[in-house]
Amino acid sequence: MDPWLAAADLALGAACAGCGRVALDLCPRCRAALRPDPRRVAVSPVPVVAAGEHEGLLREVVLAWKRRGHTRLTPVLGTLLAASVCVLGPGDRVVLVPVPTTRRSRRRRGGDLVGQAAAHAARALGEVGVRAQVVPALAMEREPRDQVGLGAHERRANLDGALRRSRRAVPGTADVVLVDDVVTTGATLAEAVRVLVAGGTTVLGAAVVAARPGPPTARS
Ligand SMILES: [Zn+2]
Repeated sequence: MDPWLAAADLALGAACAGCGRVALDLCPRCRAALRPDPRRVAVSPVPVVAAGEHEGLLREVVLAWKRRGHTRLTPVLGTLLAASVCVLGPGDRVVLVPVPTTRRSRRRRGGDLVGQAAAHAARALGEVGVRAQVVPALAMEREPRDQVGLGAHERRANLDGALRRSRRAVPGTADVVLVDDVVTTGATLAEAVRVLVAGGTTVLGAAVVAARPGPPTARS
């Protein structure tokens, strides 16, 4: 490790989000182990691609980012998202639409982390020749309950009417990809697709960082 970084780590008391060793965000070993392994996890109502399973190292890193304020991990998460976007096979122009963050999450996380990860994903896609831009085309209409602990039916009911189109227009010539951090039942993505389609936008698919393991039918 760079001696300056090592000194900064010691001074800040920072720990690797994956394994707890001294590191600013991720130690070299965890960074290497976090290579994206994107695959389709669902196809309803649009294809959903996750960069990995929400378990082990990836789960630790996502939780550190979402819940423990490790916002220095945002570029890492953005790179994983970009890998998921590529598997959807977009053309050379892509619009990334982040799933909106509830006020509760924004407070807890200190900002719109999904939107920030999407911005990093757009940059990473640009490096491989895909012109990507982030368009926050969705907004919260009302604050849903916390989804944790809710079953698939309850999640759908909880999200019914929770999202709306924002005033941001989606360019008609680009492939539209929804982005989110973790897919569980897919209820949020399904609602986001429904709102975009109702507004006349075709959605190529959804790209997420991690999918909770389980039978594919449970995520439809
Ligand atoms: Zn580590």
